Amino acid sequence: DDNGGWVELREPDLDVEEPSGPQPVVAVVGRPNVGKSTLVNRIIGRRQAVVEDIPGVTRDRVPYDAQWNGRSFTVVDTGGWEPDARDRAAAIAAQAEIAVATADVVVFVVDAMVGSTDVDEAAVKMLRRSAKPVILVANKTDNTAIEMEATSLWSLGLGEPYPVSALHGRGSGELLDAIMDALPEAPKIVENRPRGPRRVALVGRPNVGKSSLLNRFSGEERAVVDSVAGTTVDPVDSLVQIGGETWQLVDTAGLRKRVGKASGTEYYASLRTASAIEAAEVAVVLLDSSEVISEQDQRILSMVVEAGRALVIAFNKWDLVDADRRYYLDKEIDRELRRIPWAIRLNLSAQTGRAVDKLAPALRKALASWETRVPTAQLNQWLTALVQATPHPVRGGRAPKILFATQAGVAPPRFVLFTTAPLDAGYQRFVERKLREEFGFEGSPVEISVRPRK
Ligand code: GDP
Ligand code: GDP
Repeated sequence: DDNGGWVELREPDLDVEEPSGPQPVVAVVGRPNVGKSTLVNRIIGRRQAVVEDIPGVTRDRVPYDAQWNGRSFTVVDTGGWEPDARDRAAAIAAQAEIAVATADVVVFVVDAMVGSTDVDEAAVKMLRRSAKPVILVANKTDNTAIEMEATSLWSLGLGEPYPVSALHGRGSGELLDAIMDALPEAPKIVENRPRGPRRVALVGRPNVGKSSLLNRFSGEERAVVDSVAGTTVDPVDSLVQIGGETWQLVDTAGLRKRVGKASGTEYYASLRTASAIEAAEVAVVLLDSSEVISEQDQRILSMVVEAGRALVIAFNKWDLVDADRRYYLDKEIDRELRRIPWAIRLNLSAQTGRAVDKLAPALRKALASWETRVPTAQLNQWLTALVQATPHPVRGGRAPKILFATQAGVAPPRFVLFTTAPLDAGYQRFVERKLREEFGFEGSPVEISVRPRK
């Protein structure tokens, strides 16, 4: 696989709960050695402690995926606190500021064996200035004797301290319940894709060869059933076999009735195209290779991109392309399809059957990209290296920083960058280009949004 093992494909049965927006973020803050990493490991349910990973090395903001009671969220270990920083107060302020900026909920960890220190009190001041909910954890409450001690932490003014032993797990369930209660709102679960054939829109302006291509597959149509278990197939759709698999070609009724073709106005045809794209998961946009790429072709391509559907561009009538035409077509592609270099392109001929067998693999590849989920840890490992190598350009003496990123959803992949300030459009495009270089997404649009700290 050319993704170098970085990318996890979604399970084919797609029985996965999918949050509709960015996952809520929980930041864990506190002095060094109070047990933040141990607690984060406890929350993400990992036996092996991250704590030992890089001893003595400043941990930066490391996000992890976590779940509790069927809800998923991102937990950020804000270990990047330099104990030997000259100006300790400033370091604490920076830490608290980042936590406040990026988190929906802040978990403030204090060492119950030590009690509150003046450093803790300084941090509390910063945290209280924010409107973010803060949950106070009295960590290292390994037994009831320490639990008695922990009650003294009420004095911090952050409400009830949660007695927890991150090391042994004591009290961690209650803490997670409290975190869930404090999260803004349960991420909505998007309807799972119904089982059944993948939905494909076969679109393109009149006379590019849509009916001809459909007829090619209709030769194999004897194998097709009227209804596939668990799905309702609209009567205007066609179920056809392509590459040994059944596909649902949406709204192809008009393509079959050649008489109906002349009747539609262009406006009507464009509405019909839009609704077919909307109903599909992947669109095959047919272009006539013997003619220049027109504005109407561009409009249809834009509809697919704006609808967030996977995209395969079929250069039909390839049998008409000679060396001369090829030369100009390559130039047109460079010029006209520059904004969608990620689209999968096929050169085929519905008439001769050339490369028609490449369609099914292209559809599968585009759909796999469309449903790719990049694990948060890999995403941030890559991002950290990227921004280190190529930081955001400095504007007026300052450069916005990307703090971390999460993938908010799939179909198409959507990413959220948490930043200190809005990013330049050019830098955002650079991040997208690099993201594609690293993780692929061939055949799928990718959405990147930026969440600057408030
Ligand atoms: P961090 O610097 O705040 O991330 O703290 P670590 O997670 O690295 O923990 C610092 C030390 O405290 C480690 O030796 C942990 O094993 C220990 N520790 C963490 N949680 C507990 C706990 O609940 N009870 C006890 N007794 N020790 C703990
Ligand atoms: P539609 O309007 O997009 O459904 O296009 P049709 O399938 O009706 O095709 C329009 C015209 O192009 C017809 O005369 C077809 O025979 C012709 N055509 C379709 N595909 C090809 C192809 O691959 N090569 C050539 N030379 N002609 C084609």
